[in-house]
Amino acid sequence: MSAISQRVAPFGTTIFTEINQLAQQHSALNLGQGKPDFDTPTAILDQVVQSLRAGNLNQYAPGDGTPALRQAVARHAERFYQLDIDPTHGVIVTSGATEGIFASILGLVDPGDEVIVLEPFYDSYVPDILMAHAIPVFVPLHAPDWHFDPAELRAAFGKKTRAIILNTPHNPTGRVFTREELSFIAALCHEYDVTVIADEVYEHLTFGEAYHIPIATLPGMFERTVTVSSSGKLFSATGWKIGWVSGPPALIEGVSRAHQFITFSVHHPTQEAIAYALNLPTSYYQEFQQLYTSKRALLMSALDGAGFRYTVPDGTYFIMVDYTPLFSGSALDFTRYLIQEAGVACIPPGAFYSADHAHLADGYARLAFCKSDSMLHEVGERLARLARA
Ligand code: PMP
Ligand code: GLN
Repeated sequence: MSAISQRVAPFGTTIFTEINQLAQQHSALNLGQGKPDFDTPTAILDQVVQSLRAGNLNQYAPGDGTPALRQAVARHAERFYQLDIDPTHGVIVTSGATEGIFASILGLVDPGDEVIVLEPFYDSYVPDILMAHAIPVFVPLHAPDWHFDPAELRAAFGKKTRAIILNTPHNPTGRVFTREELSFIAALCHEYDVTVIADEVYEHLTFGEAYHIPIATLPGMFERTVTVSSSGKLFSATGWKIGWVSGPPALIEGVSRAHQFITFSVHHPTQEAIAYALNLPTSYYQEFQQLYTSKRALLMSALDGAGFRYTVPDGTYFIMVDYTPLFSGSALDFTRYLIQEAGVACIPPGAFYSADHAHLADGYARLAFCKSDSMLHEVGERLARLARA
């Protein structure tokens, strides 16, 4: 019988593909998928071109990543977090964070193990867990400020818990977990001997007083944490799909064994450009934060002008908007309405919840502000028009 496998049959099409198609049909301003509409910095582009033309970088890269990029990942961890990463045995370069998370689950979790996921979650986690024949266990974040209930988190830990996927700064809510929250999670991980898969792709996107704390920096946590990050957000190069996983060699070995049979290695010339980019002076990182602080303000003023409610995000480039002051109906209905009536696309967050909890997404829409200032201004005008109508 020729047919798709039972493993993938329930997955459907990702919400990003679905909304992109709908946005295109209606020529909507697309604040859905988290991808910048502006280009990668020229100096970084120049590095890729140079690498492409160097004459020795267009064949397979070393499986675990080029020495220059692994070195740059280690230096970056030392510069920003005083973490001591072994560039040779403590870093794997992957095809984006997406592959990094999948390789981490395959390399560190056994069939039948439980993996804790805070809900809402980035949409690839659960299919990854299921493809590894493991069992997702969901712990809700509670609106409006998206905190977890310590008792609910504790109740999720048990003898079968093998890992927790912890995303901070958090997509889609914009939460940046505090030291107290991370310490609570860390204590449970010690008590139940649990591995952390830390998804920190928005590590440099924090605002105001908020700052990012890698859970690997907490006492005793380095040994039980693999940290996943990516160049997509930080260098406005989501199309390059260069990510990495770093941590203690004993765990990275598992990630490497999976990675070698998923992609073996990733795009070679681009790795050299990202090595250059990660080594950019701290001023690059500060300007990046300033850029997004002002884009966040533009989207907030667009939302304020139309009367939407939201909790100000401390991190990421997303805002979870409470649309109920303007619309009653499901998140998917609101998304269709916003695309058709206002010409603005968003993501209905149902895909970030387990099937049983998808109704919790109703009332919310995720809007991305990784867009040109002119687009964000135009969004403000369109939303205001919608609110007046
Ligand atoms: N984790 C989170 C929380 C994300 O938002 C994304 C998407 N940007 C990824 C992982 C995947 O990153 P990449 O594009 O590097 O695969
Ligand atoms: N991470 C991006 C987002 O959340 C897009 C990821 C994707 O397209 N798979 O919008």
